[in-house]
Amino acid sequence: MLRQVAEGVLVHESEFCQSNAVVVQGRDGVLLIDPGVQDREMACLANDVSDLGQTVVAGFSTHPDWDHLLWHPSLGAAPRYGTARCAATVRDQLSDPGAKAEITAHLGPTGIADQVPLDLYGLITALPAETARIPWDGPHVRIIEHQAHAPGHAALFIEERGVLVAGDMLSDVLVPMLDLDDTADPIEDYLAALRLLEGVAGDVDALVPGHGSVGGADQVHARIERDRAYVLALREGHLPSDPRVGPSAKAGWEWVSDVHNGQAQRLARRSERDGTPGF
Ligand SMILES: [Zn+2]
Repeated sequence: MLRQVAEGVLVHESEFCQSNAVVVQGRDGVLLIDPGVQDREMACLANDVSDLGQTVVAGFSTHPDWDHLLWHPSLGAAPRYGTARCAATVRDQLSDPGAKAEITAHLGPTGIADQVPLDLYGLITALPAETARIPWDGPHVRIIEHQAHAPGHAALFIEERGVLVAGDMLSDVLVPMLDLDDTADPIEDYLAALRLLEGVAGDVDALVPGHGSVGGADQVHARIERDRAYVLALREGHLPSDPRVGPSAKAGWEWVSDVHNGQAQRLARRSERDGTPGF
């Protein structure tokens, strides 16, 4: 089911990890951002789009994590864009012939492995580095690229509609997940990305995170602050008091505490090794 969050901007929520697909109405069809995860959900989304009398004319993946790189045949053959760095990361991933089998294996514990279609996985067209807008015939969609969470991660700001599509940041259920593999200073990269989002926050009426609840204008600064407080606490090496971690986590999201513990430990090991401050 599509839910309107602003004029011409609709969200389709997946059961898996409360993933949000975003549909933006253009002149001759829609732009589809991060289509979703399970077969039947993407088929349902394709149906909803065709019920609107529309077709998908462009796709976009906010970042190169498996749950943002999927596609369904019924969504058609529109170009699917990502930042140059996102596309390069996916290409690299797929150069390993075992990559898809690895995703399926990784999904084992979720019980949805056989419902995640991988045939059209990761077919991303790179936008040239520094591209400021998605090339399509519709409202301007500004690309805010940064290096938090994953290489070439992009938030999208649909200025005329006041909608910020945040990718895997600013979630009410997931804590910031740092990219501990690809960058020299994951904490500073994350803080820099939050500053970029803060730069547009005043013009945001609806905030759509990759996972979690859509937030209104009143939520934007609060979520930025909460993510910043979390990241700063990680840097200082103390346990952040954060409603997304520990007993206050939402039902079904208890595993976020494990994510938190895992990254705290990895950061501690890293700073021990490098002799960097914190921990
Ligand atoms: Zn995700």
